[in-house]
Amino acid sequence: MGMPENPKDGVTRYMEAGARSMAGRAAWRDRMRRCRFDTIAVHGIYSLQEALDFNQGSIIEPIYMSTSQGYRDADELEAALSYRVPTWCYSRIANPSMYYLEGTLALLEAYGFDGDASCTVTSSGMAAAMMATEALLCVDPQGRGKPINFVSSCRVYGGTFQLFNVRWPERGVECRWVRDPTDLDEWASKIDDDTRFVYGEFPSNPAQSCFDIRKVADLAHSRGTPLIVDATVATPALLRPLQHGADVVIQSVTKSLAASGFAIAGAVIARKDMVCKCASAEMCADFATWLKLWPQRDLGPNLSPMNCILALNDVRTLRTRMDKVSRATMDVARFLAGHPRIEQVDYLGLESHPLHELAGRYMWLADAEHDDAYRKPVNRYGHLMSFRLKDGPDAARRTFDAFQRIWRATDLGRVKSVATIPAISTHQQQGEEARRMADVPPNLIRLCVGCEHPADIIADLDQALAALDAPHSVQVPGAEYSSGGASSPIVGRR
Ligand SMILES: *Cc1c(COP(=O)(O)O)cnc(C)c1O
Repeated sequence: MGMPENPKDGVTRYMEAGARSMAGRAAWRDRMRRCRFDTIAVHGIYSLQEALDFNQGSIIEPIYMSTSQGYRDADELEAALSYRVPTWCYSRIANPSMYYLEGTLALLEAYGFDGDASCTVTSSGMAAAMMATEALLCVDPQGRGKPINFVSSCRVYGGTFQLFNVRWPERGVECRWVRDPTDLDEWASKIDDDTRFVYGEFPSNPAQSCFDIRKVADLAHSRGTPLIVDATVATPALLRPLQHGADVVIQSVTKSLAASGFAIAGAVIARKDMVCKCASAEMCADFATWLKLWPQRDLGPNLSPMNCILALNDVRTLRTRMDKVSRATMDVARFLAGHPRIEQVDYLGLESHPLHELAGRYMWLADAEHDDAYRKPVNRYGHLMSFRLKDGPDAARRTFDAFQRIWRATDLGRVKSVATIPAISTHQQQGEEARRMADVPPNLIRLCVGCEHPADIIADLDQALAALDAPHSVQVPGAEYSSGGASSPIVGRR
């Protein structure tokens, strides 16, 4: 890969042409960075020039359903495969549709941030959490062979809990849980010189726990280790952790970013020049791109081009959607808080929530001050909430079973309202003690309020809670095969 003998050989000419095209794209990206959030969400990095040069003028980013790219000659192939020209070569590594989504998500996470960011999309949110953390656990430039650890809030998504509690310890890495993420002393006591990364969710799923990102970032940085924040529940419309000192953001794009629910997808967005004493200079300079070009290439959790564009189409309306669902969730939370059968409602937007003030310091609707409806900064808390039934786990199951509008599914972030009982679904595997630690009791229903009119969701909750007073009826498995279908389910009495 040394310099060519003749500076004007084919490879060099391709590199020069590549540099010109990169410069054009970078200039357009700089212009986009100066636009408001909604404009970035709608256009991303895709310009008319890009459309004319590469996509026959198509106004929507095309779905490149293709495994690989063809090259003009050996020189172009050589330049491309050594990453010396902008290329997509093979869709496990890169693809134009992937590039459009990555560019958009990087700009949105960097909105209002002084520095810059880049993004690599992955086949799922779990693949994003796996990729970002695995890379930091592998590197040991000093080759000291010393035991290493990582420090994470215990209030994390069930899959992440398993990754950290089972998979990484299986590989000999110590996982140190922070039981109370609001306790800075606990973070400080667990982070040391052998800590490879510090991890938290803001807000967490399902507990809606949060932590002081700025202060935990300072603690991590004082030991030369990066802070990774999973901000799936907030989305960049409500929280952009990079501005507050985080180094890496994890998104389950599956959720609110791609609210239509077509596909599973994830993203790692990282600041350029992140803090990480265990990583090489190249990794620190542009962690997300490094992940994409090297470990992602070798491990293979790439996102399909189809799913990239499906996700991109949902991202275009992210801010107004998150505003609408946040307001609807507030209405639903207030209704439930006043209901006699409810023991506790957990929603960060409620003033009664112990973390309301902390969440309010971080969760703001992007550009509310430039929105005619508000003309000032406005807090928004997203659409994830949960509530606990006074009468225990059985009452939770019966209420859940009585929903007629709200879907029973282990999903969230949808345009449709969806509920689950985490103790028997998302958090089933991790066992009772871990559930207690994560505050996921069996009488808790997690609800994610969709884009329906909130009055219809409140009416559904109202009738489901009223059903607790009636004798319990259950659906018989197999009812879906009856000729009557959904309109006349076969019901039995317990
Ligand atoms: C769903 C979820 C994940 C995992 O994402 P997948 O796309 O399902 O793999 C990670 N973090 C949080 C907070 C989630 O809600």
